[in-house]
Amino acid sequence: MCGIIGLIASKSSPNNIEALVLGLKRMEYRGYDSAGIAFMAGNQIKTVRSKGKIASLEDKLGQSLESTKLGIGHTRWATHGDPSEINAHPHTVGKISIVHNGIIENYQELKQELIELGCEFSSETDSEVVAQLINYYYQQSDLDFVGAVRQALTRLKGAYGLAIIAEDQPDQLIVARQASPLLIGLSDHATYIASDPMAIISYTDRIIYLEDKEYAVLGAGSYQVYDFDHNLRDVTPETIELDPGQIQKSGYDHFLIKEIMEQPEAVINVLRGRIDKQNFSSHLGGLNLPDDYFRKIDRILIVACGTAYYAGLLGKYLLEKMLNIPVDVEMASEFRYRDPATSKNTLGVVYSQSGETADSLASLREMKRRGMLTLGIINTAGSTIAREVDGGIYLHAGPEISVASTKAFSSMSIATLLLGLEIGRYRQLSIERSMEVIQALGSLANDIEGVLSLDQEIKLLASKIAKFGHMMYLGRDSLYPIAIEGSHKLKEVSYIQAEAYPAGEMKHGANALLGDDLLVVFFLSNNFLYDKAKSNLAEVKARTSNILVVTDSEEQDLARGTIDVIRVKRVSDWTQGLIFNVVSQLIAYYVAVDLGRDVDQPRNLAKSVTVE
Ligand code: GLU
Repeated sequence: MCGIIGLIASKSSPNNIEALVLGLKRMEYRGYDSAGIAFMAGNQIKTVRSKGKIASLEDKLGQSLESTKLGIGHTRWATHGDPSEINAHPHTVGKISIVHNGIIENYQELKQELIELGCEFSSETDSEVVAQLINYYYQQSDLDFVGAVRQALTRLKGAYGLAIIAEDQPDQLIVARQASPLLIGLSDHATYIASDPMAIISYTDRIIYLEDKEYAVLGAGSYQVYDFDHNLRDVTPETIELDPGQIQKSGYDHFLIKEIMEQPEAVINVLRGRIDKQNFSSHLGGLNLPDDYFRKIDRILIVACGTAYYAGLLGKYLLEKMLNIPVDVEMASEFRYRDPATSKNTLGVVYSQSGETADSLASLREMKRRGMLTLGIINTAGSTIAREVDGGIYLHAGPEISVASTKAFSSMSIATLLLGLEIGRYRQLSIERSMEVIQALGSLANDIEGVLSLDQEIKLLASKIAKFGHMMYLGRDSLYPIAIEGSHKLKEVSYIQAEAYPAGEMKHGANALLGDDLLVVFFLSNNFLYDKAKSNLAEVKARTSNILVVTDSEEQDLARGTIDVIRVKRVSDWTQGLIFNVVSQLIAYYVAVDLGRDVDQPRNLAKSVTVE
């Protein structure tokens, strides 16, 4: 789920070890708990692994690096077994060394079978069975290396990106993919493999994406890609555009704050060329759906995970107002296994930053199986979901490195409004409403710039907030999904337990939680529900003064009975949620910094969740 890197080069060099380590570093943003590499040192495989950060792997490798032509590396996000050195990848068994992303679902039965055959396991991981199995086939039968891998692949169930080397086959590197991303990078000096293009962009931009149920046999300067029925695929490498400069902190302390600050630019990028002022609509080149279909849609079903799911929830509030058709939002991990009611004219929309989220991908496939047309709202071009949807909107937000998502949320919400404009103009969305949305989007980059200038004010408040053990975010209407996303962001990066409620719902139970150790963050907008929301605020004030009000109202009296008030500019209701959300992002960031958290790679989390 985290990172795979590998290479096979024409010349042996210490630079190749350096490239493996650099590749791992480039994937650090995804979150991981241990790292390792295995490479050909002379005529033997040498495996070096360590728990914790890549820096400790570098310590073990020492100053003077060995020379190699062939190696694989991995950052692990533990699913089976502790994050320890012994469980870290690569797993080397006999002549075989492998790295694995994903989960081998039938590992227990395979392990039992292999133990009965005399294999001795050294780790608690599911992954080790892959190394054991290939090694077993390689030793016990007349199969060659490729044959042994093929044979092993027929036994594996679950999700995997795999890279495999064999000690006595220094001219071959084998990779395989089933529901976990893998790509091949081609250069004149070496063939690279990685689970994330970031890992190899310093070396090449010529890429072949492996599809599901494919494997490839690679040499320095050669590649053969096969499907699992062993048919050779005719592949054409594509050139990707990624700038290694985008993955630098550029003077910021953390990627999280850099990405929060990048939002005005992200707004401009997702909107670029997409507003059609003449027709009060949007230009979305990639939807690939017939115009007539837009008139037939009777329901929209958004499926996503994590922050993308909360962007979907905000989308429900926005799209139902624009389109007057039911919009439902489901967590992909639930959708994929339950028996959801769908109809032919339900438009399925998958939101995903990475475009690789395993649950979202499985849900997409389920929707397609049911005959639904599907769209993706995706940041990563060329990702699996982006390739499998019927059409979609790319966010063009640039790489999001921090595990906690910020700019992608804003860009997804803007893409939602663009989608609403496009579909709406085929239906009953009035010109007046469309113009409101277009105007709101037109000033949004500036409006976000304005709220970002509260940065220092929020920084000063952080230590006051960080003293609380629990937090409750409240909002009404479209500020309710914003409250949920705010609480989600805070718990991700600060580890403070936080939840969110619609402000009008507190009296039905959650009021019981109000007490000394809980801070309420109350989002109050001077919109059509202002008076109702103010009554809800009064109800909370009657029970606690641990309240931080975030508001676009200028009413001075609001400050009474609170710890503080953060005031933001009153903008259009269509984009107001995004303004409040930036405040949540800054609160989460500065509280996490105050508490000394690992802001960009919070404990136990990974960036793109490619396992179930
Ligand atoms: N399931 C494997 C393990 O726990 C691989 C985890 C990963 O994708 O990093 O070791």
